[in-house]
Amino acid sequence: MAAYEYETHDYDVVVVGAGGAGLRATLGMAEQGLRTACVTKVFPTRSHTVAAQGGIAASLSNMGPDHWQWHMYDTVKGSDWLGDTDAMEYLAREAPKAVYELEHYGVPFSRTEEGKIYQRPFGGHTTEFGEGPPVQRTCAAADRTGHAILHTLYGQSLKQKAEFYIEYFAIDLIMSEDGVCQGVVCWKLDDGTMHVFKAKMVVLATGGYGRAYFSATSAHTCTGDGNGMVARQGLPLQDMEFVQFHPTGIYGAGCLITEGARGEGGYLTNSEGERFMERYAPTYKDLASRDVVSRCMTMEIREGRGVGGDKDHIHLHLNHLPPEALHLRLPGISESARIFAGVDVTKEPIPVLPTVHYNMGGIPTNYWGEVINPTADDPDRIVPGLMAVGEAGCASVHGANRLGSNSLIDLVVFGRAAAIRAGQVVKAGAPIPDTNKASVQFAFDRFDGLRHAKGDVGTAELRLEMQKAMQADAAVFRTDKTLAEGVAKMQAVAGKMDDISVTDRSLIWNSDLMETLELTNLMPNALATIVGAEARKESRGAHAHEDYPDRDDANWRKHTIARVDGTNVDLSYRRVVTEPLTNQDEGGIDMKRIAPKARVY
Ligand SMILES: Cc1cc2nc3c(=O)[nH]c(=O)nc-3n(C[C@H](O)[C@H](O)[C@H](O)COP(=O)(O)OP(=O)(O)OC[C@H]3O[C@@H](n4cnc5c(N)ncnc54)[C@H](O)[C@@H]3O)c2cc1C
Repeated sequence: MAAYEYETHDYDVVVVGAGGAGLRATLGMAEQGLRTACVTKVFPTRSHTVAAQGGIAASLSNMGPDHWQWHMYDTVKGSDWLGDTDAMEYLAREAPKAVYELEHYGVPFSRTEEGKIYQRPFGGHTTEFGEGPPVQRTCAAADRTGHAILHTLYGQSLKQKAEFYIEYFAIDLIMSEDGVCQGVVCWKLDDGTMHVFKAKMVVLATGGYGRAYFSATSAHTCTGDGNGMVARQGLPLQDMEFVQFHPTGIYGAGCLITEGARGEGGYLTNSEGERFMERYAPTYKDLASRDVVSRCMTMEIREGRGVGGDKDHIHLHLNHLPPEALHLRLPGISESARIFAGVDVTKEPIPVLPTVHYNMGGIPTNYWGEVINPTADDPDRIVPGLMAVGEAGCASVHGANRLGSNSLIDLVVFGRAAAIRAGQVVKAGAPIPDTNKASVQFAFDRFDGLRHAKGDVGTAELRLEMQKAMQADAAVFRTDKTLAEGVAKMQAVAGKMDDISVTDRSLIWNSDLMETLELTNLMPNALATIVGAEARKESRGAHAHEDYPDRDDANWRKHTIARVDGTNVDLSYRRVVTEPLTNQDEGGIDMKRIAPKARVY
């Protein structure tokens, strides 16, 4: 048994993560008078949300007619009918409110001539239930929207006296014997001390796990830590096989060129100079949804029409747009293209390739952010004391495919919802129950085991093996054969965790140990992704299966529930919520509008 001294901290709520979701939850909790701590492994404004460029979706109608029901329809269709209807209604209805709140908190949005919030078109966002022209729904602060939101929310959280624990790494959840979450065990990176945070509510806002793949637009910190913590407690992950590839990562570097670039008039061409999206998606062309555009690009490359010496990528053109417009609306990506591709966007096309960008799957929750641990009798059973929001959570509003600009709005709508719910279920000031000592000890033992690991495989080496396996076999195109091979490879890779080697045994700024802890989190994410994908015998959203090219609603309109134990993944399924929050006669959507149909753009 590993003996570590630790400091104890008592709070009403502990939020793990200070990205957009964590900060919006923290702010909302603190505003309601709950004693709130926010624990984060990186400085809040360095969270991956800072990199979000394009914007945040809400039907404000600033640039033309729009309606929350059109936004809801687009989200349902975007999800390829795998999203939960109640959560998608909540998202679309609450979005304008959440954006105006951000405006009032001080987010410096770009403006129209009349001084309203500027909105741009984004893929998959339309008018008239998909029958009208594209809509301008995506609110933007130039191409630095995430940056603007994150800085504003951090300032507001400080103003509300939320307490920040910065560069604290959360190792594991503390769970009672009867399954109540009681807190979290953390390691302070800069001085090596240990900390036990006791709380009546823990909110996981730890972001996605893009780094399970070789080429990702997400930061190196996106290692699915919250998902890993949940999996280690025997709790499930949901719909992990749905991984979004963004059509326009810079070839080689992987950095993102926002979809806003196509929103502002950019288009893709193949080696013949053809605007091929016109062939695949005659109506919305380059603004079809991301899974569709990524698949079309991959098809062009596979059929020999890629650009460059190896014919292995595609061109994105902005060079026909007025330089002033590029300077005003897309300054950041002009800079990225110059630095990472050596391209002057006013003169030449940018070399791009579909790149891992977003995880639709995550920790299952209801639309209040409460974590769900389904049983056969109760598909909606709640885990007391535990919430998950943001990319770590799966409410599920993105289903099988997320629309661009629907994540930032998900962060603030559900961050806010979690705070509203916590205000109802957490009694401010009431005593905090004692924590389960065995659960705290489990975290220290695991930490200590890794700290002294004397195996033969280095962390970086094993991580690369995992990333290559995922990139090769769980990417845009999937077949029975590649997926089966991928599962075998990933099980072999995950099996080597027992043989891991850590060379630095110190406790202060030990990046070797931290990256090893992160790898123990990436591994269950990767396993659940590939095993879930292998099992799903249909094509839906981001899961395009060459052997089963059609969506199969009769058998597969259901959420995958994955429980990971070591190298073993146990799958079961959970119903999709098809009931809305509001009936049509009370102002809700006409359910006939969102009945499943073929998804064409
Ligand atoms: C390049 C890029 C551009 C994007 N552009 C857009 C866009 O324009 N519009 C849009 O809607 N979406 C966009 N997205 C998606 C969106 O930005 C992300 O889904 C979203 O920002 C995730 O936010 P989050 O709060 O869930 O997590 P993150 O912002 O990733 O934050 C995670 C937080 O958790 C903390 N954390 C993690 N693990 C631990 C641990 N073990 N201990 C302590 N703390 C921990 C981190 O310190 C961090 O504070 C983009 C994504 C990328 C990668």
